[in-house]
Amino acid sequence: MNYDDAMASYDPVMGLEVHVELGTRTKMFCGCSTTLGAEPNSQTCPTCLGLPGSLPVVNAIGVESAIKIGLALNCEIAQWCRFARKNYFYPDMPKNFQTSQYDEPIAFNGYLDVQLEDGEIFRVQIERAHMEEDTGKSSHIGGATGRIHGASHSLLDYNRAGIPLIEIVTKPIEGAGVRAPEVAKAYVAELRELIKALGVSEARMDKGQMRCDVNLSLRPHGREKFGTRSETKNVNSLRSVERAARFEIMRHATVLDDGGTIVQETRHFHEEDGSTTAGRIKDNAEDYRYFPEPDLVPIAPALAWVEELRAALPELPRLRRARLQGEWGLSDQDMQSVLNAGAVQPILETIAAGAPADQARKWWMGELARRANESGTDLSEQPITPGQVARVCALVAEGKLNDKLARQVIEGVLAGQGEPDEVVAARGLAVVSDDSALGAAVDQAIADNPAIADKIRDGKVAAVGALVGAVMKTTRGQADAARVKDLILQKLGAA
Ligand SMILES: [Zn+2]
Repeated sequence: MNYDDAMASYDPVMGLEVHVELGTRTKMFCGCSTTLGAEPNSQTCPTCLGLPGSLPVVNAIGVESAIKIGLALNCEIAQWCRFARKNYFYPDMPKNFQTSQYDEPIAFNGYLDVQLEDGEIFRVQIERAHMEEDTGKSSHIGGATGRIHGASHSLLDYNRAGIPLIEIVTKPIEGAGVRAPEVAKAYVAELRELIKALGVSEARMDKGQMRCDVNLSLRPHGREKFGTRSETKNVNSLRSVERAARFEIMRHATVLDDGGTIVQETRHFHEEDGSTTAGRIKDNAEDYRYFPEPDLVPIAPALAWVEELRAALPELPRLRRARLQGEWGLSDQDMQSVLNAGAVQPILETIAAGAPADQARKWWMGELARRANESGTDLSEQPITPGQVARVCALVAEGKLNDKLARQVIEGVLAGQGEPDEVVAARGLAVVSDDSALGAAVDQAIADNPAIADKIRDGKVAAVGALVGAVMKTTRGQADAARVKDLILQKLGAA
C-alpha cells in the first residue's frame, strides 16, 4: 500500500524515545573513563561489571545534565526521585539489571516546539526525561549480517556499560496526520540542537551518541483508542527517523487492511532500503520487575540549585535562530531555507572566521548547498572548512578572485587540492588586472569587433559590454572585468 492510501484510512500516533549519551568524563555510577575508541574492556571496574559487593556512586554531572535537559524541555523537575532496577538478562549487561528510573523520573511534563519545513510550529509534549546507564556492546562474528543470527560467536566490550544516558520520552504525538514522519524528524533534529546548545553531549547520531526508538500505531480516522504499536529501535540518523515512521505507517496499514493484527514487537530498521523487520516480542513494563535501587540514595535536588541551573541555561536554539534571522536580515522564507539546508552552523563559523554574513550565506547556500544536494550529503559533511570558505570570501573582497574563479577554488578545495591559496597558485586562478597582461587581449577584442569598436568611438559606451565579454572569454574568465572596461574605453578614446 502506498503512503497516501494508508493516510486516507488511518491516523498515525507516534511516540519517540530518544537516548542521549552524556559527554561526562566518567561513567554514571563509577569513575571509569568514557573515552571512545579505547581497547575493549580497558575501561571497566567491579561496579560497571556488576561484580558482587561493588557499590555504585552517582555522577553529579550526570544529574546536573539531566536537570538542564529537563529545564530546556520545559519540564517540571522532581524534588525527590529515585533510581530503579530494570531487571532483564542480556549478555551485554553484566549486572542482569539496568540502573534506570521508573515511576520517579528526574524531569517530567514538558514540551518542545518544533518547526516544520514550511515554518509551521508543532508542539510535541514530553512525558519524561530520566537518567539511566548504557549497556555494553556485543559484536556478532561470522554471520553475513552482523546480527546474532548466523554468527559463530559473539564478543563483548563493557567499555560502554555504565555510560550515562538520558532517555527522553514523548507523550503520544497525535494530530500530525500525513506529516507524522516529518514531525518525527523535526523533533529529533530540534532535540539534537538543544542538547548540543546545552553542551551536555555532542549528540552525534552517526557515533551512536543519540539514537531514537520510533513507536508507531495506526487507528482508523475518528477512533479515539490507539492501535497496537510497533517500536523501531535505535534509528540513528534524522533521515532514517523519517523513513522508519513512513515505512511503519505503510506496513501497519497493509496488515490492518488485510484484516491482520499488528504484533507488539520491536523492529530493526534497515538503512539500505528503509524497511523494518521483526525483532523480539516487546515485554511489558511489569515483566521487568522494576524496584527502587537499594544501593543508591534518592536524588533530591535543592530548589536553589535547580533555579541556578535554569538561570544559567544558554540561549536555546529557537530563540537563537530568531536572533540570527534578525542579525542576518533574512525573510522567514530565506531563514527557513538556511535551516532546511543545515547551514546555520557553517555560516556562523564562517562569519567567526572573518567573512561578512551575506558572503558566508551566499557560498554555503549557493555553490556548497548545490554540491551537497548533488552528492546527497549533508552540508556539514562537505570537505571544506568554514575557515576555508572565509578565505575565499576574503580573496573575492580583495579583488584577487571573481565569483567564477572563486567557484573553481571551492571546487579545488573540495577535491582535496589544499587550501584556497594553494588552489589559486596551483591552478593559476588569480584575477588578471595587470594592464600589460590585459592589453593584448583588449587589442585583439577591438580588432575582432570593428563595428562595435566604431559604435563606442561614436559615444555609444553601452556597447562596451560585448567587448568586455570577448576579453573575459579569451582570458578564461580571469580578467578583472572593471579594469578591462576602463582599458577598452581608454583605447577607443571614449573614457
Ligand atoms: Zn567502572
